[in-house]
Amino acid sequence: MSSFPAKRISAAVLALSAIAITGAASAQENVLNLYSARHYQTDEQLYTGFTRQTGIRINRIEADDNALFERLKTEGKSSPADVILMVDAARLWRAEAEGLFQPVQSKLLKERIPANLHGGDEGRGAQWFGLSTRARIIVYNKVSVKPEDVSTYESLADPKNRKKVCTRSGSHPYMLSLIGAMVHRSGEAATEKWAQGMVSNFARPPRGGDTDQIKSVASGECGVTLANSYYYARMLRSTKAEDREAMNKVGFIWPNQQTSGTHINVSGGAVARNAPHRDAAIKFLEYLASDQAQGYFADGNNEWPAVPTVVVKNPAIESMGKFKAENVPIGAIGRNQIAAQKILDRVGYK
Ligand code: FE
Repeated sequence: MSSFPAKRISAAVLALSAIAITGAASAQENVLNLYSARHYQTDEQLYTGFTRQTGIRINRIEADDNALFERLKTEGKSSPADVILMVDAARLWRAEAEGLFQPVQSKLLKERIPANLHGGDEGRGAQWFGLSTRARIIVYNKVSVKPEDVSTYESLADPKNRKKVCTRSGSHPYMLSLIGAMVHRSGEAATEKWAQGMVSNFARPPRGGDTDQIKSVASGECGVTLANSYYYARMLRSTKAEDREAMNKVGFIWPNQQTSGTHINVSGGAVARNAPHRDAAIKFLEYLASDQAQGYFADGNNEWPAVPTVVVKNPAIESMGKFKAENVPIGAIGRNQIAAQKILDRVGYK
C-alpha cells in the first residue's frame, strides 16, 4: 500500500485538476462538433486541413441521415451539434422544417455559393448551403432500349416504354427531390400524370438503391432507370470484373437537354439550431466553400463543386462530358416534397 502523505496527494490532485480544467477550457474554445451523413476517405483531409488552418479540433459523429435526424431530435436543446452535413435537398429541407438549423449570415458563403443552392429564408440569412452537386441521370440498356426513346424524364412515362422502367422507391429523398423539381416547373397536375405513367411502365415494383437499378438495367431485367451521377461514375471507376461487364451493357443520358435541363441536387451543410460553437461552425462552412476544400468535398464522392470557379480533375466525371443543368432553386425542391409524396400516394408509386 502506498504511504504517500495525504497532504501531498491532495496537492497533486489539485495540480492535476487545474491542468484538466485549463485543458477543458481551451478545448471548449477550439472544438467543433460535426454531425455528418457523409463518410468518404477524402473527407479526412478536409478535417485535418481545417484544424491546421484554424487550430479548431473537430469531433465527428458520423451516421446516415435518418440516424442523425433522430439523434438531433432526441438531443433537442442540449444537442452538442455545431455543424450538420446531409445529402439531398429533401433531407436538408426536412431538417430545416423541423427547426434543427439556424440562419447563417455570411458574406463569404453568399458570394461563393450560387444563390440557387441556398436553402431556407434568404431574408434572415440562409438556413443551409449546397456544397457539392450531383445530377439525376437516365441509364438504359444498350440492347433493349434506343437512347432517343428515353432522352427526358417525361419520356420514361410514355406508353412506348411500357414494362421497361425501374426505379428505387418513389419515397426516397432522391426521387422526392426529382419529383419536387418537376412540380416546380410543370405543376402538380402534369406531375401526377407523369407519375401515373411511370407506374404503368414499371418492369417490376420499386426496390433497391441506385446502384442496384444500374445493375438491373445491365442484366436486362429493366430497360431504363434513374440514378445519381456519382453512382454511375463510381461504377465507371470500378476495377471489379463484374462491374466492368455491367458498364459495357449500359449507356447514360443527360436528361432534358433540349428543354428544362438535367435535375441537380446537393450535399450540403448548416449550423445547428443550438450550436455551442457558433462562430467555429460558420468558419467551418466558410472553409468548406474554399477552393481546396471544395475540391476534396466534391471529388471524394465523384460530385461537382458548388463553387462554380473550382475545377476538379476527375477522369470518370470528365468522361461523362458536359451538360445543361436544371435551374430550379434547391429550396423549392425541398419544399415541394410533401406535394410530391401526396402525388405518389395517389397513383400508388411505392
Ligand atoms: Fe447516395
